[in-house]
Amino acid sequence: MAEALLQIQHVQKSFGGVRALKGVSLEVREGEIVGLIGPNGSGKSTLINVAAGYYRADAGRLRFRGVDVTDLAPHRRAKMGLARTYQHPRPFGSMTAGDNVAVGALFGPEAQVAPEGAQESARQWLHLLGLGHAGPKDVHRLTLQERRLLELARALASHPRIILADEVLAGLTVEETERVMDAVRRIQAMGVALLVVEHNVKAVSALADRIVVLHEGTVLAEGIPEQVLREESVRTAYLGDHAGHA
Ligand code: ADP
Ligand code: MG
Repeated sequence: MAEALLQIQHVQKSFGGVRALKGVSLEVREGEIVGLIGPNGSGKSTLINVAAGYYRADAGRLRFRGVDVTDLAPHRRAKMGLARTYQHPRPFGSMTAGDNVAVGALFGPEAQVAPEGAQESARQWLHLLGLGHAGPKDVHRLTLQERRLLELARALASHPRIILADEVLAGLTVEETERVMDAVRRIQAMGVALLVVEHNVKAVSALADRIVVLHEGTVLAEGIPEQVLREESVRTAYLGDHAGHA
């Protein structure tokens, strides 16, 4: 079994009186896709933000590549190979897609400082994710699907060991979902692990090696997708009335 790449241990996070994470533990191993699902407000984005270092955990530890990163700033974690995408994509405006990816290359373990090198690798990442045509386009002119792929390309450009992907499939059509899922599979095939936060249970079941279900800030269930989705507690607490589609 591959060793643990990212270890989230008993993490707690509150916002005022709201206990968003009440002691969450999970692991992502080298090269693995872990799907993180759960109802709205269950703490998924908070967990991504704590793992990436944007929020500080109130309690608990985070280990990445065997190193305790609990107190490390986001850019230090990025340098170690931890990349993320945002639930609401925030490309740098007034720039082309290619430039946005090139900026991604400035972070991460193999920082490219030479602008030409960064531009060339940006082209390659965009091409790899099926976004080759979009390089010269201004980011404001990209479709939602293109912006999602751009987020992934930008993360990839930093040569990550893991990408924390927050709802990269939200709002996409069935065909667009398939395309972005293909891109995620290609990223995994490169040996990059992913923690994929997703609302689309069917899609994430098809993608993930393992699934973790969050519910009101705690882990309700985890395991291989088929088993987890059959669990009574998951069906009741989360899937509820749309369990039939799962
Ligand atoms: P999910 O991504 O699963 O929908 P979130 O992690 O965004 O859930 O939110 C978990 C809980 O924490 C919710 O009750 C949400 O309102 C609250 N929360 C998240 N971020 C903040 C914040 N920055 N300030 C205050 N409350 C927040
Ligand atoms: Mg969220």
